Amino acid sequence: MGPIPYIARMHQDAVVPAAVPAGITYPFGSAPDPGQAAAVAPGVLWLRMPLPMAGLNHINLWALEDGAGWTLADTGMQTPETAAHWQSAFAGPLARRPVTRVICTHMHPDHIGMAGWLTRQHECRLWTTRLEYLTCRMLVADTGREAPADGVRFYRAAGWDEDALGHYQARFGGFGKAVYTLPDSYRRVVDDEEVRIGGRIWRAVVGRGHSPEHLCLHSAELRVLISGDQVLPRITSNVSVFPTEPDANPLEEWLESLAAIKQRVPDDVLVLPSHNEPFRGLHARLDALIAGHEQRLARVHQLLANPRRAVDLFAVLFHRRIGVDMLSMATGESIAHLNCLIGRGLALREVDSSSIAWYRRA
Ligand SMILES: [Zn+2]
Repeated sequence: MGPIPYIARMHQDAVVPAAVPAGITYPFGSAPDPGQAAAVAPGVLWLRMPLPMAGLNHINLWALEDGAGWTLADTGMQTPETAAHWQSAFAGPLARRPVTRVICTHMHPDHIGMAGWLTRQHECRLWTTRLEYLTCRMLVADTGREAPADGVRFYRAAGWDEDALGHYQARFGGFGKAVYTLPDSYRRVVDDEEVRIGGRIWRAVVGRGHSPEHLCLHSAELRVLISGDQVLPRITSNVSVFPTEPDANPLEEWLESLAAIKQRVPDDVLVLPSHNEPFRGLHARLDALIAGHEQRLARVHQLLANPRRAVDLFAVLFHRRIGVDMLSMATGESIAHLNCLIGRGLALREVDSSSIAWYRRA
């Protein structure tokens, strides 16, 4: 099963299964099998690759006609299966045409994992935002290192016991195992930039919160949004604080990004998300995501009538038992909600003599 627990620790979406909001429709039937493709818009093919994880077992990838070749959007996790499925896709629906460029929405291994492999095979460039590229280089460089004291201190302060801290230390550095050696150079994409792919303009729409500088691509002509993990229809993207930046406020950034996308991208687009299925109803989904987080913030605020640790929030944030494999993701989400309340002036953090952080209403 390879690097699964490591990746679940670093990444994933879907800690909270969201209720399906009204106004969302799914215009396509079943997803294409791995190695196959389905046309979802003129010159846009939908591919799907398996992920070796219990909670989330697939990722959607997109191939965009680009002159005589293909621009690929996202690449799959580095596994032998993904490589075999790519070979099938090139022999089959991609018709042995060359890859002209690889665009990655963000640096999580299921998205960027095969970028180094694909760009080397096809002698083409990786295109992504600067923070996604650099953050990925940083995380990959952790593989082989011992867990840092800052990380242990961070999770101890959140309320972890010694068992859980041991698990963290044993699993540290797994990120790089799911990512093929990254290209040593890349083409930077900036927010609002117009990227020309096969004669069509795709506008870069950058979001924050799930990853530092997440790239979505919007084609006004096709009325299509490649949304990555920034907007998912059935599951809620992970928004976490990590030990490298304990005071970060990714949840406020996430909420701001969702509101900005509603302003910038019309409601009539076909949304191509990285997980689940292509859907219509972008604005309804954005509204539901924002409302869901605001509800959870209100519940956490209520709970802080008495001092709580980050781990004491799981019952109000998640509708499932949090096992050791989900612990860092759940803790990261808890702290994201707490830091958001602190940022709004609604909560305070105090550290006791055992270095445990306690949060209460301001
Ligand atoms: Zn992601």
